[in-house]
Amino acid sequence: MRYSVGIIGLGAMGSATAWSLAQQGVSVIGFEQFGLGHQHGSSHGKTRIIRSVYFEGEVYAPLVDAAYRAWTRIEETWGQAFYRKTGGLDISLADDGGVFHDALSAAQAAGRSFDVLEGSQIEDRFPALDLGGRGRAVYAADSGLLDSDDATNWMRDMAARRGAVFHANCPVQSWTRTARGFEIQTSTGSYQVRKLIIAAGAWVGQLLPELAPVLVPERQVVAWYHTEQPGLASLPIFQLETRDRERYYAFPPHRGYGLKLGLYNHRRQRGPEFIEPSGIDDDDRRLLEHGLDLCLPGVDRKPDNIIECRFTNAPDERFVIGKWPEDEDLIILSPCSGHGYKFAPVIGDIAADLALEVEPCVEIGEFAVKRVV
Ligand SMILES: Cc1cc2nc3c(=O)[nH]c(=O)nc-3n(C[C@H](O)[C@H](O)[C@H](O)COP(=O)(O)OP(=O)(O)OC[C@H]3O[C@@H](n4cnc5c(N)ncnc54)[C@H](O)[C@@H]3O)c2cc1C
Repeated sequence: MRYSVGIIGLGAMGSATAWSLAQQGVSVIGFEQFGLGHQHGSSHGKTRIIRSVYFEGEVYAPLVDAAYRAWTRIEETWGQAFYRKTGGLDISLADDGGVFHDALSAAQAAGRSFDVLEGSQIEDRFPALDLGGRGRAVYAADSGLLDSDDATNWMRDMAARRGAVFHANCPVQSWTRTARGFEIQTSTGSYQVRKLIIAAGAWVGQLLPELAPVLVPERQVVAWYHTEQPGLASLPIFQLETRDRERYYAFPPHRGYGLKLGLYNHRRQRGPEFIEPSGIDDDDRRLLEHGLDLCLPGVDRKPDNIIECRFTNAPDERFVIGKWPEDEDLIILSPCSGHGYKFAPVIGDIAADLALEVEPCVEIGEFAVKRVV
């Protein structure tokens, strides 16, 4: 059988794309090298942050609006609530307040509602935090967290119910251009598709060698801490920029899981070798403990769980989404740099629009593939 669209990679982006296409009655086949919902890529994990104030830059504002609409639509149309509104803080301890200023400018430019909290006002509002009276923060009430594993599984299930065909534990070994589309080769067979979408996360360079030097995997570490400290459950999600311009991010306890903490970019371990796990060591633990020292000194240092994972970085740290410059039928989805999850249903719709040759539902010119190859 010949399919209209083939998708390589069934993490959040591939799954959302399959769901969007299947809803529109498009025949779609997807391939995943591991089991569905596996722990080796970028998408696994119970939760991901969604922020209404986006300090990464104005270029993301239309995506942010579309993401909120998409998660609301999922809730209202499909009765599935994956979003918990916790509020969100972007705190900076740095003298020049990088993240604070970026968040403030982004909030003003996008017309978001927000509060500015300075020094002890942060702890007055959120007494579980102990910043020693330091820092400046932008607080956005609409930020929160998403039940990401549940949401990704749900999107994939919905796609399968509408006829999407998924091959799990089925690595794509290669693909070739044909006169009428593409042939996808796996160890169990070859498949013909009219359009090809590559949503392969950290492995994208193995399928498209031109992208290997520019979309580089980076090792990350995240931990969960058990805590009965009062007030933690009502913490917002938050980013904490240190004086050295490192950035921690944290989630309040949620659905039986403790406080979640990570250091964005962690040890900056980048390169193809970081696709494979290397094991957690004392330096990993110490880095996260330092984050606790800065804002939650009462939390027990021994994590309930600590894991390593990876995301992909483009040189300008912006997403790479769009058609391949020399082939209109080949679509690349790499919402990299560790903040793409919240946009999954939107990026799925955008990819479906590109495959169906209609104007993308959100402007994506700033994320064009041609800027990196
Ligand atoms: C630690 C961490 C924290 C994050 N926190 C946030 C957050 O709070 N908020 C937020 O919005 N985003 C966050 N992100 C980013 C977000 O999770 C990612 O942007 C998103 O998960 C990327 O999804 P993906 O589908 O592109 O990649 P992946 O989930 O990696 O999926 C790619 C898939 O392709 C498969 N594949 C690769 N090669 C092949 C092949 N040859 N054949 C078949 N299958 C193949 C892989 O096995 C994989 O399943 C975080 C990421 C990390 C790692």
